[in-house]
Amino acid sequence: MENICIFCKIIGKEIPSTTLYEDDDFKVIMDISPAAKGHAILLTKKHFANIFELDDDTASKALVIAKKVATALKEEFNCDGVNILQNNGEAAGQTVFHYHIHVIPRYYKDSVRITWGQDSYKDGEAEEIAKAIQKRII
Ligand code: 5GP
Ligand code: ZN
Repeated sequence: MENICIFCKIIGKEIPSTTLYEDDDFKVIMDISPAAKGHAILLTKKHFANIFELDDDTASKALVIAKKVATALKEEFNCDGVNILQNNGEAAGQTVFHYHIHVIPRYYKDSVRITWGQDSYKDGEAEEIAKAIQKRII
């Protein structure tokens, strides 16, 4: 996987990128096709295809870095909000199968659209579903 992965190639400097943060575990780069100016993506230096492969230590460190980047974007652009989002699996919109987190500056009148339709639960259904999921959270 690593030798055909575009983000591994970016980490390995085989493909150039515009970097805004780097440490031992992560590299944060400008997204090549930004949803908004300043759209950044945080990449793990190690190849994990998605959140299911990620170890807990890297997962928790990633959110701390995403928070720092979100804060920097807010300060620099004085944006009205920031989306932190992360896709896992083709069905969820993932197109590069190397774990990454999007950090996207938002404005009240921007053209970024992150939407989904909303449904409702029948009586007792939410509790039943919560119970089924709960026993798998370890
Ligand atoms: P996903 O759809 O997997 O959540 O996000 C992948 C992101 O990677 C997309 O927003 C896409 O624009 C970005 N991307 C894909 N290839 C490259 C690249 O070569 N360089 C950079 N900087 N971003 C890329
Ligand atoms: Zn990779």
